[in-house]
Amino acid sequence: TERSLVLVKPDGFQRGLTGEVLRRIEAKGYTLAALAVVTPTREQLAAHYAEHEGKPFYEPLVDFMSSGPVAAVVIEGQDCIRGFRSLAGATNPTEAAPGSIRGDLGRDWGQAVQQNIVHGSDSPESAVREIGIWFPDL
Ligand code: ATP
Repeated sequence: TERSLVLVKPDGFQRGLTGEVLRRIEAKGYTLAALAVVTPTREQLAAHYAEHEGKPFYEPLVDFMSSGPVAAVVIEGQDCIRGFRSLAGATNPTEAAPGSIRGDLGRDWGQAVQQNIVHGSDSPESAVREIGIWFPDL
């Protein structure tokens, strides 16, 4: 079955939303294959966000993502990559549909970086790459 890398970002972790995110993942029927609380290093984030390097939001994004602990989670289940992105909702939490994690729990906090609670891998190739970054022993 398919695996995806989910991060509860520093805003979600700090707000105590990790349990709510995990609850939605499990309620959907996906299982947890790995779970860790880590404060990301800039090296990890440079690897994770390599595709965004050079974009105007890249440095603020790395600053934000390294600002505190995140919950890193490997989820498992049929089509869980697309399925979790559907659970997460649109990138911009102001526009994300009600019923989604970002739509129900997020908004635009007026920060330089969108604090949108969660990350989810966007393709099978990204999932394999990202799981290798956050869980090298898995
Ligand atoms: P994620 O990869 O976190 O699940 P996504 O795939 O919806 O989100 P990407 O386009 O991959 O979004 O961007 C990665 C992250 O960079 C976003 O989740 C958001 O935190 C931040 N980001 C993306 N676009 C912008 C932007 N225009 N301004 C500020 N931050 C942005």
